[in-house]
Amino acid sequence: EPLLLCKDIEAKVVENDKAILKGLDLEVRPGEVHAIMGPNGSGKSTLSKVLARHPAYEATNGIATLEGEDLLELEAQDAAQKGVFLAFQYPVELPGVGNTDFLRLMLNAKRKANGEAELDPLEFLGVAMEKCKIVEMNPDFLQRNVNEGFSGGEKKRNEILQMAMLEPKLAILDETDSGLDIDALRTISEGINRLKRDDNAFVVITHYQRLLDYVKPDFVHIMRDGRIVKTGGPELALELEAKGYVDEVLNG
Ligand code: ADP
Ligand code: MG
Ligand code: MG
Repeated sequence: EPLLLCKDIEAKVVENDKAILKGLDLEVRPGEVHAIMGPNGSGKSTLSKVLARHPAYEATNGIATLEGEDLLELEAQDAAQKGVFLAFQYPVELPGVGNTDFLRLMLNAKRKANGEAELDPLEFLGVAMEKCKIVEMNPDFLQRNVNEGFSGGEKKRNEILQMAMLEPKLAILDETDSGLDIDALRTISEGINRLKRDDNAFVVITHYQRLLDYVKPDFVHIMRDGRIVKTGGPELALELEAKGYVDEVLNG
């Protein structure tokens, strides 16, 4: 059974009815890494937001299921609790909100929704320290406010920490590699690779082939004008890098 199944999704911006996704198909199986590439404005971020159930976007046609369950019926919080995680291109700062409290709230909300016991602060700290190790994050960051004064690379790493805590089934990373230097990129990629299991999956949206040197995709998809117009293996990303989004690549 696919982990994520998208069939013929059409979606629009609620505020102005602008149609953005125009018949998108995508199937992601457990254990897979999918890369989505495509020119600016092709709808990559919209796809990620529709799947994470961002209220600014509405699916007007098609289906999306997570382990067979209708995703498009869910609100954002429920989608998150059922295992969809979206890492944003620009992580928000939450001044005055401690990272530890934030992570514990997120994790306990998820545990509660799944009928698991909530963790008390001490239990939580044990888990958090463990996860910091996995993503090679200095545990001092737990004491800081969420993303406040974090460098670009530290924010990305903090997101990988959030992901490590929540153990999502489907993690969507929307250009989480943009603006990172090569060391930060390597650390983030290693974090992703350590969190990969045969029962979860990653959808990585990126403009750059270089991330895919570290996080090996099983499939590379090209999006254009609200659809996936071509699917291939890692070699497709190399071809794109060499030639750009020319018809030869898109249609060949
Ligand atoms: P990508 O991530 O591939 O660059 P996006 O999904 O961000 O593309 O955007 C796809 C298209 O939809 C763009 O033309 C963008 O301007 C438009 N769009 C996205 N969100 C909105 C919105 N809230 N209001 C109006 N247009 C939007
Ligand atoms: Mg249709
Ligand atoms: Mg985008």
